[in-house]
Amino acid sequence: MSTAEPRARILIVEDEPSLVESLRYALEVEGFEVLTADNAVDGLERARTWRPSLVLLDLMLPGGSGLDVCRQIRAGSDVPIIVVTAKDSEADKVVGLELGADDYVTKPFSTRELIARVRAQLRRAHRAGTFGDTNEILRAGPFELDIDAHEVRRNGEPVPLRPKEFDLLESLMRRVGRVASRETLIDEVWGPSYYGDTKTLDVHIKRLRQKLEPDPSRPRHIVTVRGIGYKFVDG
Ligand code: CA
Repeated sequence: MSTAEPRARILIVEDEPSLVESLRYALEVEGFEVLTADNAVDGLERARTWRPSLVLLDLMLPGGSGLDVCRQIRAGSDVPIIVVTAKDSEADKVVGLELGADDYVTKPFSTRELIARVRAQLRRAHRAGTFGDTNEILRAGPFELDIDAHEVRRNGEPVPLRPKEFDLLESLMRRVGRVASRETLIDEVWGPSYYGDTKTLDVHIKRLRQKLEPDPSRPRHIVTVRGIGYKFVDG
């Protein structure tokens, strides 16, 4: 038995029982923890509550499209998503990638190929600091954001944040060095159905800077990207 990743957790969202069982077996032999869901609603629910390291997502599901599941998972998480498509649905594959899936496999596929792709995505996520561990801590520069403890530390010292400030910082720290658009941040922190004043975002950014930046008037970590949004810089 090999365990390249420390008990990475794979969520399989797939409604074909025989495929689910063969995947479960192959992944467990490789040392992964496996959870399954056989419809779109449970798949989304488990992706949110179980916080898997990676999601294998079939696109043809009872109870809703896998594409919707993909979009909704991605709205709140950077978890790697590998889309499973049928051979005759090339369009779905493209849409899946556009909605934020990281890779795809086309049925029928070999479990060896699938596991290679799973490992590749987990390595990539691990490097990006987004590995969905049971106690996930995002680190950048002097900052640590401890998801489970819901605590932010600067040089090891806790910095008290309000819930939305925490969520906003998490969104920024999940993409260190990459810009997050205003729309993405509002979506992730206030939800896709938020229709309030977009100045709310700027107010929260300002508060975060006051709490986290050495000189809030000249931010080094929470940087404005004019015309687009904000970016977290770990320097
Ligand atoms: Ca299916």
